[in-house]
Amino acid sequence: MVDKCKDHNKDAVTRCVWCNKALCSICEGLRDGKKVYCGNCSKKLSEHISEKNLRRAEAESNMEMTHFKRK
Ligand SMILES: [Zn+2]
Ligand SMILES: [Zn+2]
Repeated sequence: MVDKCKDHNKDAVTRCVWCNKALCSICEGLRDGKKVYCGNCSKKLSEHISEKNLRRAEAESNMEMTHFKRK
C-alpha cells in the first residue's frame, strides 16, 4: 500500500522524520542527508537552529555579564 499525501492527493515519496507525515514531492521540505522534513517541521527546525546559534553566540559574547543581566 502506498501512502498518499493528504494535501495534494499524490503518492507519497517519503515521510517526515519528525512528525511522520506522508510527503509527496511537492511537500518535501528541508533535506538533511537521507532525512526529510515536511514544510512545518522544516520551519520549526530552521527556527530552532537559528535560535540555538543565536543563543550560543550571545552566551559566548556575554558570558561574564550574564549574572548582572538576569532579571
Ligand atoms: Zn513534519
Ligand atoms: Zn503533497
